[in-house]
Amino acid sequence: MNIAVVGTGYVGLVTGTCLAETGNNVTCVDIDLEKVEKLNQGIIPIYEPGLDTLFYRNVAQKRLRFTSSLEEGLKGASIIFLALPTPPGEDGSADLSYVLEAAEDIGKLLKGYTIIIDKSTVPVGTADKVQQRISQFATADFDVVSNPEFLREGVAVDDFMKPDRIVIGTSSETVKKILSELYAPYVRQGNPVIFMDVRSAELTKYAANSFLATKISFMNEIAHMCERLGANVDMVRLGIGADDRIGKRFLFPGIGYGGSCFPKDVKALARSAVECDYEFRILEAVMEVNAFQREYFVSKLLRFYHNGLQGKRIAIWGLAFKPETDDIREAPAIYVIRELLAQGASLAVYDPEAMGNIKALFGDKISYAADQYEAVRQADALAILTEWPVFRAPDFGVLKNSLKESVIFDGRNLYDPEKMAGLGFYYNSVGRALTD
Ligand code: NAD
Repeated sequence: MNIAVVGTGYVGLVTGTCLAETGNNVTCVDIDLEKVEKLNQGIIPIYEPGLDTLFYRNVAQKRLRFTSSLEEGLKGASIIFLALPTPPGEDGSADLSYVLEAAEDIGKLLKGYTIIIDKSTVPVGTADKVQQRISQFATADFDVVSNPEFLREGVAVDDFMKPDRIVIGTSSETVKKILSELYAPYVRQGNPVIFMDVRSAELTKYAANSFLATKISFMNEIAHMCERLGANVDMVRLGIGADDRIGKRFLFPGIGYGGSCFPKDVKALARSAVECDYEFRILEAVMEVNAFQREYFVSKLLRFYHNGLQGKRIAIWGLAFKPETDDIREAPAIYVIRELLAQGASLAVYDPEAMGNIKALFGDKISYAADQYEAVRQADALAILTEWPVFRAPDFGVLKNSLKESVIFDGRNLYDPEKMAGLGFYYNSVGRALTD
């Protein structure tokens, strides 16, 4: 099939590449000229494991192209994916301007029957708005479909190639037939393609992300109870996770969720609730707990240093909002860095992939280490903010010798408190006994 993908960010680039991988002809369109230029030079602008192999193969075989011209991108396309940003507006609702402006431009260019698929995360009713906007300008027939994307950054290629499920909101039998064919190679193991009405599909994405965020905030609250009651959150996690109804995943406490999706999607669903005259009480609490987690983490350091970080050097391991990505959008690290700087600390940071993005934000206000051990050299303490695998089994001897004092604040529970006590560290983690 001939496909256009409008918006070539984390979702659009993975979608376009993975659709080309099964033999489709894909043109990715982006208004960011620099990004398109890089892609055309064979430079992938994001870090996403496994994407490079598929990208280079499909570009070489001319099934994957990039352009900044919508007109060129849409030429001959029978399916158009929208993978555009939907950032939070001032009141928390999703800002639909990118999607609706693109819809207008697409309307002006439509030739024959086309399926327009919304992959962006958008509130219920958006497909109707897109339909109306395109209708104002289009003469050709078209259908607007909601097909929310569930891929996770860091494992996005796997998630796209073998999704747990594909959700498609449409009432058109033609669309069902064409999209069943398009997605057949990705669900060969029998994972479901779930067809539903458009509004349910739109809400499904928000429900999924809000539920996952709720799990995280719930476990963070359990961790606070553990700290107060002398219990160990790891044990509680294992104890409840063995129950199939609860499941083992997403039960890890920490310094709160970040990223480009959870914060904005929880906010947008809460805002949608207000707009339809419902107060989504759980979501308000989920957001409050999440904001508190990072504040609490900083307050632990302040308490340890008796409210004065002046003259203290803190090393930070991990800046991305989660491992295996360079994405720092809404990363807890941004908050922690700002607060520690405001309290007078000097910072040396290290992240395997996100250094460039953090540097673009903080410039020379902090030092950027070449590796994790350089970051801790002569630091008073180490703060761990992202659970990159490379931090899981460090050389504790080197760590101890490099740090001025053996002090670790671990926001991701990477190490065993007993082991750390044995090694002579002051080790402060989340929801577990303190060791010193
Ligand atoms: P992104 O910011 O990485 O990418 C969006 C791209 O769209 C950018 O490259 C931007 O230049 C481009 N763009 C903006 N306006 C354009 C226009 N008029 N024409 C062409 N290109 C245009 O965003 P993302 O992370 O890929 O997210 C896209 C959507 O997918 C959002 O709604 C998001 O909520 C949703 N989503 C994201 C993820 C994720 O993990 N990132 C997962 C599932 C769903």
